[in-house]
Amino acid sequence: MELDAMPQLSARALAASSNGVLIADARQPSCPIIYANPAFCRITGYGQDELLGRDCLFLQDTDGEQAAAALPALRRAMAGGEDARMVLRSQRKDGTPFWNDLFLSPVPDQHGELAHYIGIVTDITELKEREQRLAFHSTHDRVTGLPNRHLFTDRLQQALLQAQRHGGQLALLCIGIDNYAFINESLGHAGGDQLLAGAAERLRASVRSDDTVALLGGNEFVVILGDVASPSDAISVCETIFAALAPAFTLQGQQVHASASIGIVLSPQDGRDGATLLRYADMALTRARELGGAHYQFFASEMNHRTLERIGMEAALRLAVFREELQLRYQPLADLRSGAVASLEALVRWQHPVLGLIPAQRFVPVAEEAGLIGAIGAWVLRRACHDLRAWRDAGLAPVRVAVNVSPKQCRDRQFAAQVAAALDAFGLPPSALALEITEAALPQETAAGADQLQLLEPLKTLGVALVLDDFGTGYSSLSNLKRYAFDAVKIDCAFIRDIVTDSGDAALSKTIISMAHLLGMQVVAEGVESEAQCDFLRRHSCDLIQGYFFAAPLTPDEVQTLLREDRRLSPHLLRVQKQQRTLLLVDDEQNIVSSLKRLLRRDEYQIHTANSGQEGLDVLARHAVDVIVSDQRMPGMLGADFLRKAKELYPDTLRIMLSGYTELQSVTDAVNEGAIYKFLTKPWEDEQLRGHIAEAFRLKEIADENERLNLELRTVNHELASANRRLEDVLRQKQQQISRDEISLNVARELLQHLPLPVIGMDDLGMIAFINAAADHLFRGGGALLGNEACVVLPELFPAGDGFEAMASGSRRAPGTHEADIDGVRFAVDVYPMGASSTSRGSLITLSRKEEAA
Ligand code: C2E
Ligand code: MG
Ligand code: MG
Repeated sequence: MELDAMPQLSARALAASSNGVLIADARQPSCPIIYANPAFCRITGYGQDELLGRDCLFLQDTDGEQAAAALPALRRAMAGGEDARMVLRSQRKDGTPFWNDLFLSPVPDQHGELAHYIGIVTDITELKEREQRLAFHSTHDRVTGLPNRHLFTDRLQQALLQAQRHGGQLALLCIGIDNYAFINESLGHAGGDQLLAGAAERLRASVRSDDTVALLGGNEFVVILGDVASPSDAISVCETIFAALAPAFTLQGQQVHASASIGIVLSPQDGRDGATLLRYADMALTRARELGGAHYQFFASEMNHRTLERIGMEAALRLAVFREELQLRYQPLADLRSGAVASLEALVRWQHPVLGLIPAQRFVPVAEEAGLIGAIGAWVLRRACHDLRAWRDAGLAPVRVAVNVSPKQCRDRQFAAQVAAALDAFGLPPSALALEITEAALPQETAAGADQLQLLEPLKTLGVALVLDDFGTGYSSLSNLKRYAFDAVKIDCAFIRDIVTDSGDAALSKTIISMAHLLGMQVVAEGVESEAQCDFLRRHSCDLIQGYFFAAPLTPDEVQTLLREDRRLSPHLLRVQKQQRTLLLVDDEQNIVSSLKRLLRRDEYQIHTANSGQEGLDVLARHAVDVIVSDQRMPGMLGADFLRKAKELYPDTLRIMLSGYTELQSVTDAVNEGAIYKFLTKPWEDEQLRGHIAEAFRLKEIADENERLNLELRTVNHELASANRRLEDVLRQKQQQISRDEISLNVARELLQHLPLPVIGMDDLGMIAFINAAADHLFRGGGALLGNEACVVLPELFPAGDGFEAMASGSRRAPGTHEADIDGVRFAVDVYPMGASSTSRGSLITLSRKEEAA
């Protein structure tokens, strides 16, 4: 009874099962389906009668990866006569794919021969999709949908293998959105995400479909360009990317512009493994960013060395201050007037345990970036004060030391207090110290700038000297610097290097000197290495020089020696040259001449003598004399008359009378006429007389210097005037060009007015800008058409559909001809885009009667 009921029960069970069940006939070669349950029909979308008799494998996807792997396995299982289970991708009747988990069981007949297959099918599509979604998210970025670092690493690996196998080249681009942090900050993360998604889309569109674009996190995109023939291929992709990113993004309803910087690395040239390539591309990106954004940079091996050096250096530098590895050198600045040491610049050095003595240039920038400059600067300041104190205590003449101040220190509100404390600690007056500030530390003309300006104020109030360092390398103009009250400006060594060969550098240095002097600042030339440079600077009134020519940076001990020996520039290099101090002594008493000569010998004047006025005039004719000292009572010619004559012939000389007779009218007259600068009486007091004569020389030199400066000023003014004249000439020429253009325009207009041919001019927006008399006549009162859109008011001229409308709106630029009926007359209408022989834009339309045209 139970057995009898079995087939019926089985049939019910099969019909009710949610799993699809299929029975195929194994005895026929095509294994036709002989039974399919309702669930199978539901899953596949086929009716039972459509299934019966068909090959049991007809549902399986026969192409794609899975077909390649799964179908043979399925066939093997069927042939082997054993149970098998597999996941297959199949197709529904409507063509949509579904995943089925198939259990296949061969069923033998009573003789043990394979007779049927029973297949049990479970639709696992949903499960499969969930799995795939999970897999996708583990390898892709949620916001942009781009491959993430994980997948990128894999793809890069593949691309490298492929390139290696085929001997090809690949490029890796590291792309950073320049203003991402700012946008993220101002529009919030939602805005930032929108930007990333938008940029991702544009990046994808900028490369080939088989190139990988990935997002490594943050805003760092990477692109793998396979099969790159040359670096220029990578460049053209960069250009495409720049162009793609150029249009504004709409973020949170706002139009926002974004640009990108790109670092490029090539394989195999730059490296063969993914991690190295990525690191190098990242370095190149950093370099591209330093260029100010919207730039691309190829990786260069120095970047690597630089970075490695930096990383190592930064770590060691942190310890350098504590390990007392820093040292100071002092480079003297020599005064071009006296030749003596005017001050010293403190330059920091790092005695590295392995690398030896490292100059500031190599580690100060690292210290600035690593935030260590504050500690180093504080050490330098105290050390300089310490050394100043030691030199003073050793009895050396007080000298000023200039300390370099980094922009960061300058902005520290505690800085002035720190300077005051250091001076105080070593009992030094503020005048012992100068601070060198580079242009980079100077604020721009902004509100924040004004604030920083005030930061220099306390230093000024404190009484330390302020020096503007490296002038010319930044962007400030000298006239701007007036408000900072700098005491001196240093012309950067870059301009000094070629000062005697490069006329541009020479002119610039001369201008800086003149301008600085007008503003009351002293001028220092840095990096003076040769006598020729020094001579040029002397001739152009530079005040101080610094450089290897006078002295290299010295140790504190060497400074002591230098100061003790009072080492100076040699006299022939000085602005005011001592050997030219020439004195003429005139007295009829030889013993007086002799004793004056003896007295003045130690002042190193070049001395000429004469025993009468006439002899004195002879000496003046033969030698350039600065100062004359003359007696009054002499036979032949009175001293007053001699000096009067000397004034007439040599007005630049300074004339002193040295006489025992004071009452004479001729002397007072000569004094009143200005022939005598000073009247001194005999007998004289030695030191006083020496003082008066030295004073006279100084005055003479100042007068000479003034004369020279005047000359220089006249030259500068002359140069300025000639520059102005050149400018005026250019303006005049431009003006003439404009009036010529105007005349030719009027002629052209006139001509067009008289032309029997109707002519209409349109601007580049398709507006009628001109209409001649013939056209005016043709359209009867065409004047009213001016300023209207041509294709609206003259539709007969712009037949739709053949591009002439586009021409009217200015969007088509090629010439063209068509015909039009106007008042029943057929015209040939020619349209010419303008701009071929002028800078005008827009088009010209001419109309000619058809008969005439033919
Ligand atoms: P700077 O202030 O312009 O210093 C002049 C630089 O020129 C020094 O290099 C000096 O050694 C070098 N020099 C001297 N004479 C000549 C010459 O005849 N020809 C050439 N070509 N160069 C010459 P150094 O010591 O390597 O310093 C480089 C820069 O580092 C300095 O430029 C200064 O801006 C900075 N620096 C130096 N010491 C300090 C410091 O203690 N603190 C801070 N913040 N910066 C410092
Ligand atoms: Mg300096
Ligand atoms: Mg400098």
